[in-house]
Amino acid sequence: MTDQSDPVPGGTTRPLIRKWRGEVAGPCHRHFLPPGEPPGAWPDRPDLRVEVAVVGAGLSGLTAAYHLRDREVVVLEAGTQPGGVCLADEYAGIPYPAGSAYSYYPWNGAWAAWYRDLGLPVEAAVVEPPASALYYRGQWFPDCYSARGVRQLPFGAAVREGLLRLAEDLAAWEEEWDPLGEDFSHPELDRRSLADYLERERGLPPVATAFFAPYCVSCLGALPHQVSAWAGVSFLMSEFSEASRIMAFPEGNARLVRALTAALPRQPLVGRVVVGLTCTRDRVRLLARAAEGETLLVEAQAVILAGGKFAMHHLLPPESGWGAEDFEHFRYSSYVVAALLGPLNIQAPGYENWMMGEEAFSDFILSPRGSPPQARKAMILYAPQPFPGGRPQLLQQPEAEQATRLLRAVARHFPEAAAGVEEVRLYRFGHAQVVPYPGFLTRLRQEGRPRPVQGRLILAHSDLAGLPCVEAAILEGQKAARRAREVLASGEKG
Ligand SMILES: Cc1cc2nc3c(=O)[nH]c(=O)nc-3n(C[C@H](O)[C@H](O)[C@H](O)COP(=O)(O)OP(=O)(O)OC[C@H]3O[C@@H](n4cnc5c(N)ncnc54)[C@H](O)[C@@H]3O)c2cc1C
Repeated sequence: MTDQSDPVPGGTTRPLIRKWRGEVAGPCHRHFLPPGEPPGAWPDRPDLRVEVAVVGAGLSGLTAAYHLRDREVVVLEAGTQPGGVCLADEYAGIPYPAGSAYSYYPWNGAWAAWYRDLGLPVEAAVVEPPASALYYRGQWFPDCYSARGVRQLPFGAAVREGLLRLAEDLAAWEEEWDPLGEDFSHPELDRRSLADYLERERGLPPVATAFFAPYCVSCLGALPHQVSAWAGVSFLMSEFSEASRIMAFPEGNARLVRALTAALPRQPLVGRVVVGLTCTRDRVRLLARAAEGETLLVEAQAVILAGGKFAMHHLLPPESGWGAEDFEHFRYSSYVVAALLGPLNIQAPGYENWMMGEEAFSDFILSPRGSPPQARKAMILYAPQPFPGGRPQLLQQPEAEQATRLLRAVARHFPEAAAGVEEVRLYRFGHAQVVPYPGFLTRLRQEGRPRPVQGRLILAHSDLAGLPCVEAAILEGQKAARRAREVLASGEKG
């Protein structure tokens, strides 16, 4: 993607502030939010008949389509390009992630084979250490999520020892605990918040909770007292792991999207908001609308709903077998990603650089990593919005206001970098990712997640795993493809 968005009207010439990009809320809201447009007339005859229709071209929907590429499949996407929150952009020939950035290097044979089959050069994408660095009170602390890095942190000796013991326990748990597997080990951790676990169970002081705060808001969408200890611990296990490493392509996880779409026999139809769904015993019909108002009626034997449940529940007719109560406990965070562009005089030790005590943004990466101080580069700021309630504020916030807030924050810590910013590009995600608040995973995993198949309708999306990460999206996409095959097979037998 190259940026062609207009500058904000009336803005100053330096830095140039571009209009919001990212999630295009308008078309979806127009159809789904009250009073909402009625879905429009349903044509009598389908424009397209397929075996499987996929709603949503995020990683989960694309993965499902990829695993069904020997069947007749169409993917319908509301946005103007595939990828969902895996968005990329480019500046002066430098690719950078404008959304989801990194994933874990495939640690077992099945994952490695999956990436290899997609032709992704994962070896070349392994991030050179230190993967993470902490910025606190004007100083850098590299490799902050490792036993070695913890020993250097500017906290009292007792805090460092407490963190080291936590790191040891995380390493031991990692041997037996697969957070994305079916087993739900240590369910008691889901009944409390991460802050409660750190402070009451492990006796760590609030500064230790504050140390994890930027990580929590960025990766889990909310603060340590708002996310479940189970989710926090299962994410931190990977960060502290001696065994696992992260990988990142220059344009982030948009590279996965490109590989998946390239492997599909039929390209996703973008700019199509699915606004209506009907299902009978032997088929499903989807009504999609484009921005200009023209409609597309798709008939399928099975439909995979790979959008977030906040959107998909609008589509479900009473005869689908799912009710509003199945999805009411899903909560989502909201997010701004900002690219500050120019000859920025800044260097940072980590791939991911965490800002402790800074409210305006939680972390940043520099693209390209390790480039000389005055070279043109992109400083990508991750700025999760307050949870709950950040989304309405985000949707109303003018670009100049958001850009000014972030530039001021950068100038407080890195004045030389802020002085070099020539252009600011802002990307917003109104429903960025599902938030694993205390009790949510128990509800999904022990008390019964919404049944993933109802007749010919199949659920996908990372929110079904309750954990917002690339691997969850891929696994949910794979499961949805298997379920679609079962639905097709039962139709073929009948
Ligand atoms: C800013 C940000 C940074 C992140 N960074 C990382 C990271 O570094 N590493 C990591 O592991 N995870 C990261 N994540 C999380 C991870 O990328 C996501 O969990 C994953 O990509 C989500 O994929 P998905 O398919 O489940 O959902 P989505 O990406 O939400 O895709 C759903 C798609 O459905 C479409 N859709 C919705 N409704 C309709 C409709 N009615 N009709 C047609 N289409 C519709 C949407 O437009 C969207 O494209 C990040 C998330 C965000 C927001």
